[in-house]
Amino acid sequence: MQFDSFDLKPEIVKGIIACGYTTPTPIQEQTLPAALAGRDILGLAQTGTGKTAAFLLPILQRLQDGPRGHVRALIVAPTRELAEQINESAMELGRATKLRSVTVYGGVGKGGQLQQVRRGAEIVIACPGRLLDYLDSKEMQINKVEMLVLDEADQMFDMGFLPAIRRILKYMPGQRQTMFFSATMPQDIRVLANNILINPVTVQIAHQKPAETVTQTLYPVAKHLKPSLLLELMQRHDIGGRTLIFTRTKHGAKGLAQKLEKAGHSADALQGNLSQNRRREVMHNFRTGKVRVLVATDIAARGIDVADISHVINFDMPETPEAYVHRIGRTGRAEKTGMAFSFASRDEQDQVRAIEKLLGKQLEQHQLEGFDYSVPAPPKSAEPQRRPGSRPQSRPSARPGSGGANGKPRAPRSRAASSGANTFGLSPQRQANNNTNNANRAPRRTPSGNR
Ligand code: AMP
Repeated sequence: MQFDSFDLKPEIVKGIIACGYTTPTPIQEQTLPAALAGRDILGLAQTGTGKTAAFLLPILQRLQDGPRGHVRALIVAPTRELAEQINESAMELGRATKLRSVTVYGGVGKGGQLQQVRRGAEIVIACPGRLLDYLDSKEMQINKVEMLVLDEADQMFDMGFLPAIRRILKYMPGQRQTMFFSATMPQDIRVLANNILINPVTVQIAHQKPAETVTQTLYPVAKHLKPSLLLELMQRHDIGGRTLIFTRTKHGAKGLAQKLEKAGHSADALQGNLSQNRRREVMHNFRTGKVRVLVATDIAARGIDVADISHVINFDMPETPEAYVHRIGRTGRAEKTGMAFSFASRDEQDQVRAIEKLLGKQLEQHQLEGFDYSVPAPPKSAEPQRRPGSRPQSRPSARPGSGGANGKPRAPRSRAASSGANTFGLSPQRQANNNTNNANRAPRRTPSGNR
């Protein structure tokens, strides 16, 4: 299928050509016919599938006709990064349409955003909190919105935005086209989707399995040894491409980036405490290759769309198996191979088990040959002090199977409890089989069906 089968307006075709898209991705193939016909859409797709253009093209096509100078399309997204990325795509795809788009999110002054809205932007891309501020204070109206997109609905739910979204909906006309995208579809999200979509067309793109081009390896390791294992692995692996490392807390991201810098890596941290300008700078440096290693929390990294990430490292295991799939989906894109390393300490075994359940297979476990797993933990007083009030940045999810809901510590896995001090999780047989440094092993290349 080609883009010309969708009968898009010439200005929009120009945008597609400018972006360098030649053929629609599977999510675009499935979404475009129904969305262009005005149908509601329930889309199950992760970042990386091309979902942004799947909802932007129908918006641009519809808005190209009709009145200008007021908000006609609203896109609600969980993070500023994602809002900015959607806006960049809207500007590129829509350049020839002369439609105007504006981003709305907190952490920056209100003046500039409101000025752009008042100048007559037709497309608003907003995070829920700041948008609701503007609606409550009547600084902005969305009562003429014809098209609504909720992007990454599951993440908005995890971040506690559901009540805000429900209130935002009250400011909008009931008569509208709604497109609802989510990487996962837990029960609460399904209920929300059922409430707001009318007779939707469901499109689904391999939402719960990582690309087969990603080689996944699990490194069981005691918590205190994670930083040294990481440095050793990075050195031996001679990681040359872009590397994205995930930590559980903002504080952890910052500290780890500093450690990596000290060890001579070009690294930076992306976390919620940064000013908007600083976040932009960090992202820009990572995109352009000035910084090679980015340490991020799930929330800060949500929606990061950077091509050619060669390695994803789960320094801390994610709270949910869905987050794992999302994290490692950043590598192995577009048929390229990628590697995902996960460091799992004894108290993260529940997460490992949940991931393996979702994947339907055990993760391959490895030990780094020659790495001293027997170094004891430093005495409590010598451990770095946790900053008062530092908490995980992502809210623990209460999804079934995710374990550790409500922030309660997890019980160790029985598999872990029965084995050695630092190599827990490895059966003697698997240890023997895997007791090689696979770091320099060429990644397996398998054809990908879903990117
Ligand atoms: P998304 O899932 O929307 O974040 O898109 C992931 C990446 O795919 C972005 O860099 C898009 O620019 C790119 N992309 C989207 N649609 C296409 C297409 N039809 N052909 C090639 N690349 C695309």
